[in-house]
Amino acid sequence: MANPYDTLGVTKSASADEIKKAYRKLAREHHPDASGGDEARFKEIQGAYDVLSDPDKRNQYDAFGATNGRGAPGGGQPYQDFDLSDLFGGLFGGGARGAGQRRPQPERGTDLQTEVHVSFEDSLTGVQVPVRANVETACHTCGGSGAEPGTAPTVCPECSGRGVVSDSQGLFSLSHPCPRCRGNGTVIEQPCTTCRGSGRERVQKTFQVKVPAGAKDGTKVRLKGRGEQGRNGGPFGDLYVVVRVAESPLYERRGADLVVDVPVGYADLALGASVEVPTPEGPISLKVPPGSQPGKLLKVKGRGAPKLKGGGKGDLLARLKLTVPEKVSKKERDLLEQLRKVSG
Ligand SMILES: [Zn+2]
Ligand SMILES: [Zn+2]
Repeated sequence: MANPYDTLGVTKSASADEIKKAYRKLAREHHPDASGGDEARFKEIQGAYDVLSDPDKRNQYDAFGATNGRGAPGGGQPYQDFDLSDLFGGLFGGGARGAGQRRPQPERGTDLQTEVHVSFEDSLTGVQVPVRANVETACHTCGGSGAEPGTAPTVCPECSGRGVVSDSQGLFSLSHPCPRCRGNGTVIEQPCTTCRGSGRERVQKTFQVKVPAGAKDGTKVRLKGRGEQGRNGGPFGDLYVVVRVAESPLYERRGADLVVDVPVGYADLALGASVEVPTPEGPISLKVPPGSQPGKLLKVKGRGAPKLKGGGKGDLLARLKLTVPEKVSKKERDLLEQLRKVSG
């Protein structure tokens, strides 16, 4: 036989614990039922461990380089001293459930998402609007059991209510959800006619949603507990309302700031002027400094959109937009010609 120390990759002075560890690791890797397993190699490992785990056999091997009796490779009891649940527990996600009836676990209801559309003005002040959502809830006829009123779900005959069935595959068995009851442990003999046995129905519900002042396009508002009803007594999910804000013909949003175009003439920019600027709270008068360039932003502090976090408001940014007349009068033409001559 091969040197059992080499087979397990341990030294001659290895402790019983080290040998056991090395064996378990190798057995896991080479078990014939594991992916990449190798039966011949596994038997060799098994044989080596059979020798080294038994103090008498180990002494005998150390003294004579061989053992007689049960320790020979392939001759030992297969898989002895080998805890299968230890080997497969990690591979197949927990293995079999304990005996006894499986209780359906409460599940939280699904979150839902819907949209509301608001005007730009409403998004600045905040507004309460109704929102409709198609919500799945427990069926009103059967109360969610799925069984026709007056009847009740019965224990699944396939799995005796355990919700799992086992497949025997040689040395070990695999459990999987019962196909008859889909893991519920119960079956419905007389399905409810309203929900056809699902126990659920969709209903359209209307909720009031408060769109906060300063909401942007895409802002999400959560309505806690307004999502779908949980199964088996689980809590309701939430309803997320995505706010869709209509574009404004006047303002462009930049975070909490609002940009507004202010049409000005060449003379206004060159000489300075006082212009009227719209703001969400009404028009204000703004001074354009002499020598302003087209596109210049004049900041009006605190006249923007309300900030969603931290309070306060953003700024209003008045963008000076040079407007050139498409047609000019005779008098204007003369003046502009003069101006052109003067400024070269
Ligand atoms: Zn029903
Ligand atoms: Zn079943």
